Amino acid sequence: MDILMENYIHTCPYCRGRLNSWFRGNFKGRYFNAKLNTFRIKYFCTEKCYKDYKENFIVEDYNNNTIFCVEMCGEKRYMPYFEANYYFTNIDNCKKRIDMRGVSVVSRDVLMFMLQQY
Ligand SMILES: [Zn+2]
Repeated sequence: MDILMENYIHTCPYCRGRLNSWFRGNFKGRYFNAKLNTFRIKYFCTEKCYKDYKENFIVEDYNNNTIFCVEMCGEKRYMPYFEANYYFTNIDNCKKRIDMRGVSVVSRDVLMFMLQQY
């Protein structure tokens, strides 16, 4: 545990409410630190609070997915879900990824078949 995290142990990073003693009963979520341009795992007071927090980053609902956007290192980064560890600098590419994911769920064999045609 690093020193930076220690400062936040007792308060929720979103509502600043007091957390339960240590981590018991708190909700683990992803927190975007705009100053450090990084994501960190933090404890929120409740799952609802984490949801409210994430709502600040929603740009639009697309095809049953929610697209989130953070401004990081001076550029807008779009993610098909807040916990994604990848991003797109263009919202259309993010949508394409969401569409593709729908296809790959249908059948991996189809994809293999298509690849063999080349
Ligand atoms: Zn909270």
